[in-house]
Amino acid sequence: MAKRDYYEVLGEGRHASSEEIKKAYRKLALKYHPDRNPDSKDAEQKFKEAAEAYEVLSDPEKKQRYDQFGHSGMKGAFGGHGFDMSDFTQAHSMEFQDIFDLFAGGGAGGMFSSFFGGGSARGGRRGAVQRGESLQFDLSISFNEAVFGTSKEIKFYRKDTCSECGGSGAAKGYNKERCPQCGGAGQVSSSQGFFNISRTCPKCFGSGTIIKKPCKLCRGAGLVEKSHTIKVKIPSGVDTGVRLKSAGEGSSGPDNGSKGDLYVRIRVKSHLLFHRDGDDIVMQVPIDIATAALGGGIAIPTLEGKASLKIPAGTQNGKVFRMRGKGIRNLQGYGVGDMFVKVEIETPVKLDSENKKLFSELKRIFLPSSNPAQSAFIKTAEKIKWK
Ligand SMILES: [Zn+2]
Ligand SMILES: [Zn+2]
Repeated sequence: MAKRDYYEVLGEGRHASSEEIKKAYRKLALKYHPDRNPDSKDAEQKFKEAAEAYEVLSDPEKKQRYDQFGHSGMKGAFGGHGFDMSDFTQAHSMEFQDIFDLFAGGGAGGMFSSFFGGGSARGGRRGAVQRGESLQFDLSISFNEAVFGTSKEIKFYRKDTCSECGGSGAAKGYNKERCPQCGGAGQVSSSQGFFNISRTCPKCFGSGTIIKKPCKLCRGAGLVEKSHTIKVKIPSGVDTGVRLKSAGEGSSGPDNGSKGDLYVRIRVKSHLLFHRDGDDIVMQVPIDIATAALGGGIAIPTLEGKASLKIPAGTQNGKVFRMRGKGIRNLQGYGVGDMFVKVEIETPVKLDSENKKLFSELKRIFLPSSNPAQSAFIKTAEKIKWK
């Protein structure tokens, strides 16, 4: 399912003030709060959707990026897996406190940690060093850049190992400690009747460790978001949908995990005349009625310059001519495509008196055999009997 526009999610226009955005979000958060809608997957989804939209639109930097690039601009912000609830609880726990207070009368901590703790836990499985997130960047290039190849500078955001704590997430002089709630298991269990329910530890989010004093710069994540500019070589022959991989240019993993990859997804802008069909080019070319009837050469623009196409006498509308080897060189090196020229015979308009005279004369002297389709039609039509 396509991701909904963040403004649409909050029901606000693009020029809404930060106060209006906050208000809209609060309304939705209250309405869809999981405490009010127990066991409703739909409400939970809407609640998360609103939280994600607010997370972006309440942050001036993220909002600007979203306004400029849409959801694809947020890839660096949330990584390949989309929105991460753990980012959100960190950044907005204060915001949430008062919403919760409205109908729970305090004690927000426990409720929220259990709600978010069950979701996408930060840190993942205990002990395993995670690889960083792979990112995707959507790049638009021109038709000619796709055909001939180019190199592009792209600017994107990724998470790098925090320079302050070296990725540990702990403030100077502090270390990670075993989580006292789960004893380092990352899971806690409680019995309900006959059942023993095991769930992700709400204190350490499943990592098994806690940080007594988090690093100020990364707030314990071990990673900080940074903008990067790299040069990407685009090979000749790429088309819309091609993904180019820049190995190791994605985000760093937590705890000094290795870097993910960066995927550059290509979108080729359309050309005014050339339409692409694989490695072939398809082009519609209007020709005048005299050339169609008498034949003659017409000039055809190709990728490498002008070429001449011979139109035989009596060419009909919609006829397609093939120009071999005038297409696109294949990305994998499998030869070159062709160009297909579809002619469209243009009926003359705005005739001057001389032209009108000539066409009238033409009509008078036309032989039925010069227009066989029309003649056959008239003959058949004359045989129809009406009651
Ligand atoms: Zn740090
Ligand atoms: Zn724990």
